[in-house]
Amino acid sequence: MKILLLGKNGQVGWELQRSLASLGELIALDRNSDAGLCGELSDLERLRATIRKVEPDFIVNAAAYTAVDKAESERATASRINGEACQVMAQEAAASGAWLVHYSTDYVFSGRGSESWREADAVAPVNHYGASKLAGEQAIIASGCKHLIFRTSWVYGARGNNFAKTMLRLAKDRETLNVIADQIGAPTGADLIADVTALAIRQVQLRPELSGLYHLAAAGEVSWHGYASHVISFALANEESLAVSQINPIDTTAYPTPALRPLNSRLNTQKLRDNFSLHLPDWQSGVTRMLREVLNK
Ligand code: NDP
Repeated sequence: MKILLLGKNGQVGWELQRSLASLGELIALDRNSDAGLCGELSDLERLRATIRKVEPDFIVNAAAYTAVDKAESERATASRINGEACQVMAQEAAASGAWLVHYSTDYVFSGRGSESWREADAVAPVNHYGASKLAGEQAIIASGCKHLIFRTSWVYGARGNNFAKTMLRLAKDRETLNVIADQIGAPTGADLIADVTALAIRQVQLRPELSGLYHLAAAGEVSWHGYASHVISFALANEESLAVSQINPIDTTAYPTPALRPLNSRLNTQKLRDNFSLHLPDWQSGVTRMLREVLNK
């Protein structure tokens, strides 16, 4: 089996390099061309040529335009990478019979209410990033290719920057942190996403009828404020020296950003767990493991 991985150095892409390696021959690309191959998603024709040249059984697309605020002022670029490039991948997958594995976001939803979103719920993105990711999903589904689209939320990885590391850095210098308390979701590890992807790829080879859209997030829910409190408590319990003594909850309206953010990022993962017989661990276990890694505890 041959797998073409795009976006190999992102949070999820990095973990996919590990989890996909034992499934088959893995050709992993970043933006840079390698041996005549092109992993730059905005170059649609070279992307198409790359897929034709590799002839993968699975295309796994971990590359995306993920700068949520910047997407408001760089709409065309975000749409090209998150929408049009997915359409190219999907067309090529449909034509060759390959699978396309892709990642999307809870930002396709309005963020209203407090129920967890199911796959069939109405979409209504509140910012351009969400709209561009939705365009990618729709292009894949419309192409008729065999696909796995995983909508996830609040992704973190031990490698690179993440919210927990930002909180730890700020807590070293500041006595008070103000953190948003009215956005609710589930911090989800890039390692978990990559492991579930590998397990799902194995299963769809035997059961292609599992092709579809799935919500993938760690179990449980928390606000950014609760997430920050968990991180700081862990660090203090492990004798990190921090200046912080107070973590104040604030509303989203007190922290204006160029892109609106949905308040309700809860994802219902029942369909994924049932169809693939999977257990999704609670968000705390993954975050704590990541903290142990980054703090070397
Ligand atoms: P990252 O931002 O960590 O990684 C994205 C990768 O895409 C980077 O390696 C980036 O490369 C690459 N990339 C960006 N533009 C291009 C381009 N034009 N051509 C080729 N590569 C490009 O994202 P995550 O790993 O966190 O996200 C993985 C998936 O999960 C994405 O589809 C994202 O939309 C989705 N998701 C992420 C969430 C999150 O909280 N992060 C939440 C919900 C869904 P470079 O570093 O060179 O720019």
